Amino acid sequence: MQKIEHIGIAVRDIDVADKLYTSLLGSSPYKREVVESEQVVTSFFRVGASKIELVCSLDPQGVIAKFVEKKGEGIHHIAYAVVDIETEMKRMESEGFKLLNEKPKHGADNKLVCFIHPKTAGGVLVELCQERT
Ligand code: ZN
Repeated sequence: MQKIEHIGIAVRDIDVADKLYTSLLGSSPYKREVVESEQVVTSFFRVGASKIELVCSLDPQGVIAKFVEKKGEGIHHIAYAVVDIETEMKRMESEGFKLLNEKPKHGADNKLVCFIHPKTAGGVLVELCQERT
């Protein structure tokens, strides 16, 4: 793992959350992006070498909507930057971590991503992400 690439925060309303985080961080989001495959809209803020990713469901039955309904808004996942996602996925699987997708998939902000089940990762949803070239 290279660094914490971003921390994903589940939010109820992306516009309200954008305002809150703009005020909290003292800077505006550099990107808003819809991820059709996940039915979410995301908003990204830079914080030094890391980022904050706000994630808001576009589908009332989606996983983010259910998360917010159950737990309220808050930290949803931690994303680690990796150089070679396939190698890292194999390594983690061999260490006993449960991968939530078998192949890297296209995530927001030009990334290939893979999620690790929180049950096998100490209660934290982990995202591996590799910059797409
Ligand atoms: Zn993320």
